[in-house]
Amino acid sequence: MNAKPKIVVLGAGYGGMMTARKLTQTLSPEEAEIVLVNKHNYHYESTWLHEVAAGTINHNQARIMLSDVFNPNRVRLIYDSVEEVKRDENRVILENSELTYDYLVISLGFVTNTFGIKGMEENAFFIQDIDSSQLIRDHIEYQFVKYKNSEEKNDDDLTILVGGSGFTGIEFVGELAEKVPELCKKYDIDRYKVKIINVEAAPRILPSFDEELVEYAKQSLESRGIEFRLGAKIQECKEDCFVVGDDHEEIKAGTIVWTGGVTGSPVLSNSGFELTKGKVTVDGDLRAPGEDNIFIIGDCAWVMNEKEGRPFPPTAQAATQHGITCAKNIKALLHNQPLENFVFDDKGTVASLGISDAMGTVYGKKLYGKSAATMKKVVDNRSLYMLGGMKFLLKKGKVRPF
Ligand code: FAD
Ligand code: NAD
Repeated sequence: MNAKPKIVVLGAGYGGMMTARKLTQTLSPEEAEIVLVNKHNYHYESTWLHEVAAGTINHNQARIMLSDVFNPNRVRLIYDSVEEVKRDENRVILENSELTYDYLVISLGFVTNTFGIKGMEENAFFIQDIDSSQLIRDHIEYQFVKYKNSEEKNDDDLTILVGGSGFTGIEFVGELAEKVPELCKKYDIDRYKVKIINVEAAPRILPSFDEELVEYAKQSLESRGIEFRLGAKIQECKEDCFVVGDDHEEIKAGTIVWTGGVTGSPVLSNSGFELTKGKVTVDGDLRAPGEDNIFIIGDCAWVMNEKEGRPFPPTAQAATQHGITCAKNIKALLHNQPLENFVFDDKGTVASLGISDAMGTVYGKKLYGKSAATMKKVVDNRSLYMLGGMKFLLKKGKVRPF
């Protein structure tokens, strides 16, 4: 090991940001060198990507420059793409260079999972990061401009198809319900010509969520023009349609967005970790099995909920809490002290249904409508505060009026 141990954090999402911030707060500069590697020079709020994709917020609002959060004398920032971790050599291979570590935190987040559905990768848009979300926003507006200026108008060009009604799909169509009337006004197009269709394989939206809340969400969205096709498994995605169900019905659209699921970063498989559905099932202290000095957190990890015998769902809430435990455990390793097991403090789940509506549970209590929408903004603002402090809350916080 070096005289001063080197802690390398891969990925500046919720997990990586929180780990690096806590390390800077709890370790002195003499105790360790801290390196944060990220593809971009900014962190983005993944939980706001559906708003970027619909165009209801500007992409810059969802970004925080890393150099504004971290003192470069304290955290060395490297903007590069991680390709592989060579565990035997304590080395990380980046696209443009490489680096060694004494302690490693893999917090590279999620990528969209197409489950190998034919044509999905080639023909659908994904809500995966800032760039992919901006593409969706621009494509939707392009379809409006094209429609307005074409002589032979094809109403299918205005249809927006969203595959999957998990939280991402539902929050996205909620934002579209806000944005589409605005675009119709801007381009003088009849609102009824624009279809927003959400296609889900299960017989209900948000298959594993509270039935009463789900019914509320469905009715709210339907009243604002969202159509649902439930029990409709997407078999294929073509350039202009989803192919759905056993009878291979084609649902045509000008914009096709896949929100059918996520998995862990491909860096995990490139690095030879044993994977379950694309992620590593970590030990209670968040280390990769059999690894003394490698932590895997956030959407790259399955953290077991021992009470229920299955992993906790991958969320920003969990990733942030992983970061706190991970930083504590690295400090414990540096001081030869015992590590602690991660304990999830579940504060609840709130899903937005547009600007002024939402639903969810907070500390076990069900919330609907404006109170849920207010709570959602509180959660979003709290996240900004925790990652970047008061400066970012004031600069980027959500104050959209209802
Ligand atoms: P991420 O936030 O995905 O961050 C990973 C970081 O690693 C990024 O900065 C990325 O640029 C970087 N990176 C990736 N690959 C590389 C590479 N090869 N090299 C270098 N850098 C790399 N969860 C909630 O709890 N509440 C919500 O309301 C909520 N809403 C959501 C809304 C949407 C639209 C989506 C898509 C997800 C939502 N989630 C929500 C889930 C939540 O966003 C994820 O669970 C969370 O982002 C995981 O955090 P993470 O730190 O593991 O990774
Ligand atoms: P998900 O896996 O939760 O939902 C995907 C949906 O797509 C499911 O309903 C599934 O049945 C459907 N689907 C899959 N294959 C299909 C097919 N062939 N045809 C039709 N439908 C199909 O994925 P997600 O919504 O991207 O969420 C990912 C994670 O992020 C989850 O853990 C979620 O809790 C979290 N998240 C949380 C929030 C929030 O708390 N507000 C918001 C967004 C995401």
